[in-house]
Amino acid sequence: MSYEDDDLALNLINCCDFTIFLGVTTHMELSKTGFLSNLAQLIPMPDCNQSPRNMYQCQMGKQTMGTPCHNWDLQSETKLYRLQTPSSPLFRPVHHDNINLDDFAMGTNAIVAVISYTGYDMEDAMIINKASEERGLGHGSIYKSEFVELDHPSSYFVRDPENPKKLSLYLDSDGLPYIGRKMRDGEPHYCFYDSDRSQYVVKTFRGKEECFLHSVKLCGNLIKNPKKVACLTYRVPRNPSVGDKFASRAGQKGICSHKWPAEDLPFTETGLVPDIVFNPHGFPSRMTIAMMIEIMAGKSAALHGLVHDATPFKFTEEDTAIDYFGRLLEHGGYNYYGTETMYSGIDGREMTAQIFFGVVHYQRLRHMVSDKWQVRSTGPINILTRQPLQGRKRGGGVRFGEMERDSLISHGASFLLQDRLLHCSDETMALICTSCGSLLGPVTVVTRLAEKPNQSDTKEVCRICGHGNNIAEIQIPYIFKFFVTQLASCNINVRVECKNI
Ligand SMILES: [Zn+2]
Repeated sequence: MSYEDDDLALNLINCCDFTIFLGVTTHMELSKTGFLSNLAQLIPMPDCNQSPRNMYQCQMGKQTMGTPCHNWDLQSETKLYRLQTPSSPLFRPVHHDNINLDDFAMGTNAIVAVISYTGYDMEDAMIINKASEERGLGHGSIYKSEFVELDHPSSYFVRDPENPKKLSLYLDSDGLPYIGRKMRDGEPHYCFYDSDRSQYVVKTFRGKEECFLHSVKLCGNLIKNPKKVACLTYRVPRNPSVGDKFASRAGQKGICSHKWPAEDLPFTETGLVPDIVFNPHGFPSRMTIAMMIEIMAGKSAALHGLVHDATPFKFTEEDTAIDYFGRLLEHGGYNYYGTETMYSGIDGREMTAQIFFGVVHYQRLRHMVSDKWQVRSTGPINILTRQPLQGRKRGGGVRFGEMERDSLISHGASFLLQDRLLHCSDETMALICTSCGSLLGPVTVVTRLAEKPNQSDTKEVCRICGHGNNIAEIQIPYIFKFFVTQLASCNINVRVECKNI
């Protein structure tokens, strides 16, 4: 019996003897929240939300930037999202503490004003206080790891005889980049000895985005003469920018539309400026009452130095959450309903409406514009159809579909329609026979005269009707010619009637 087998046997004995391990639970008391999943149990007061909102939050809870691990220097995951300035929610269900989620914090506490301010908060857009962002609100980064093979097993030192000094600017003596180095596109990445070619090879770094080298690890395994493999982990800074996605824990998502200067945002009597401006139109249709309760609960928690329990089914019709937190707010000298008098950040005038104002735990989601933006003038095309390729990575175009086409037609924007669907797509000049209307008929015939063998003459002839006088050049999308060709293969002829305008 090997050592591992002994260990296994010991464990089995312990299990049979019902040895109690500290902190290991086998059974749990039935509770009202027992039917909820791990994700659902993290939603504050889901019993006060319209049910689809809870489902949305269950989706988004998995997409938050947070604290996926603590061994940042050792891990080699392909991609990890990290929130740099997380905080513990002030209004949370007991499940949050049961699973020690404070050790793996997932969001930030933001001061929220529920107010329609400027036009930058329409629909699901959201204004973020620029000063808050600069102080660290929602700061985060992506950790990416890459494995590189260093071809020769014994030697991977830099010995570039031509330019030893220049290379040492970028690479360490082992041929790998310096830790903490800012990686730039086209700069030396790593260097190794290629035994097949008997020379040192310098690889260049490819990457458009600014990033830093976080760690370098040499990897080993149990094979006798393994290839040297190095794991390089990069850190890509991703602080919030316009177009990044956020969400509260009530399925209320929002896209940052503007980083508003703090001095132009509304402020309260005590001089508080919100971190996030939330549009009140987000409440009536979505009915996320739990978020409204959270605003009051978060505010009173901050006021009294508490953390409030957000486990569902704790309050009743007789003893409501609004009343409980309202009285706490009142006790702290605030308005019972959580509203405050606010002043315009533009002209300093007092606002006539009372503004709902409090603290909400916000999640930063991993959908970021810098991963999604796409732009193209002209670029790669499909060889068969001559239409632009699809896909961001390949430098392709954004699809201009049928609905978009209908929209332009309904607006009568025919020139724009032609620009999108013809000029910027697969515009071609094609020959057509005006007498038989065929796009496939015209062919170019090369003729050589016997007396002048070095000179050749080209002439367009229609091979269907035999005429050579009625060949014209027309501007069409290439896909139309392709379509006509395909129809011809089904024995269907297409006749185009041409007119001079
Ligand atoms: Zn013809």
